[in-house]
Amino acid sequence: MKLFCTCGGCNRKIYLNAQVKTRLELFNSYGRVLRIQCPSCQIQGQIDVNYVFAEPTYNLAVPGTLSGAVIGIIGGPLGMIVGGFGGGFLVWAVSLKDKKAVAHFNSNYV
Ligand SMILES: [Zn+2]
Repeated sequence: MKLFCTCGGCNRKIYLNAQVKTRLELFNSYGRVLRIQCPSCQIQGQIDVNYVFAEPTYNLAVPGTLSGAVIGIIGGPLGMIVGGFGGGFLVWAVSLKDKKAVAHFNSNYV
């Protein structure tokens, strides 16, 4: 899960490197208003923690295919199929957990 807010100057997403799971944690660590400098337009702004949102980090398709390919190289064509499926499942499980964390973050305000 990645946290972001939107720049008031150029409307681009600004990603935050805060490792928190909820807005309440964000509030407790940084206060209600975060000071942000936009990396694109350099505008300095303040953002209420309730305007910080989360989005999923994991992409379903790519890592599963990649790990499948790696195992495939080691195990031959059957390994490719099994590895692709297993890798896909692992990523699916991780991304589901990530999506839940995102939904939890976005639906709880402080
Ligand atoms: Zn900007």
